[in-house]
Amino acid sequence: MVEITILGTASMVPTKERNVQAFYLEYDGEGMLFDCGEGTQRQMNVAGISRAKVRRIFITHWHGDHVAGLVGLVQTIGNSGYEGTLHVYGPRETKRRFGALMDATIFESKFPIEVEELSPKDELVVVENDRYQVTCIPADHGIPCLAYAWQEKEKVRVDMAACKRLGISQGPLIGRLQRGEAVEVAGKRVAPQDVTYRVAGKRVVFIPDTQPHPNLVRIARFADLLVCESTFSDEEDEKSREFRHMTARKAAHVAADAEAKRLLLTHFSQRYPVVSHLVEQAREVFPGAEAAFDLMKITL
Ligand SMILES: [Zn+2]
Ligand SMILES: [Zn+2]
Repeated sequence: MVEITILGTASMVPTKERNVQAFYLEYDGEGMLFDCGEGTQRQMNVAGISRAKVRRIFITHWHGDHVAGLVGLVQTIGNSGYEGTLHVYGPRETKRRFGALMDATIFESKFPIEVEELSPKDELVVVENDRYQVTCIPADHGIPCLAYAWQEKEKVRVDMAACKRLGISQGPLIGRLQRGEAVEVAGKRVAPQDVTYRVAGKRVVFIPDTQPHPNLVRIARFADLLVCESTFSDEEDEKSREFRHMTARKAAHVAADAEAKRLLLTHFSQRYPVVSHLVEQAREVFPGAEAAFDLMKITL
């Protein structure tokens, strides 16, 4: 089960209702943060998320609304008796900028922090283990900027009814079949595919500040959940071009072209206290589009 908490949905500045950007994803007790705008720590408090669970932070780009909360969060994690390494990933210049942020305050790092700079040409694997994979791809925001996808690995499930029919009741035998080995039962060979089936893993995609680009559809392909920037409404389309952002309608086109299952719009300009018209415009293209709101939780 993967749980996503939307920690901020504002663009540039926090408003009374919206904090700036951060998304928290938890899987098997491991916390991953995508961006860390100012106030992210407090949002985590309100959402009931333990900061010491954060093992990886993925930065989309170095505009302040996405990173200004890093100093406080990293210091708190450092003071929490955190064991292990904190991994920070981001686009080109991340090492220098992260180092400068950490140098700006007096802080003794009590735990190892590994910073990795990513400069993908195409979709690039950032993290891979036997449970999940994280990839990134360049977005188009006029500065180094990345979209990320978190992909759960496919799971092998056991069809217990089929096991029963074939007379397999022992746990070790079932375990071997689940690992892809054939076994022998009462003189008969049972192949893994006779009693197991595969379940596709969930895919969660974060598209940050960007103007439309084919890369966005590539990384969002078949997403179970696509969280996508949608700074402006149709009426401000010219501004969206000028500042290399998207309208809600353009975000919906990405979701539709990528055949995403669910679209959450975010990164709303402060000019919209209410975003229902952005949702309506997006729904003309992607009928299920929804507006993300602060502290929204989604379980997949
Ligand atoms: Zn932004
Ligand atoms: Zn930006």
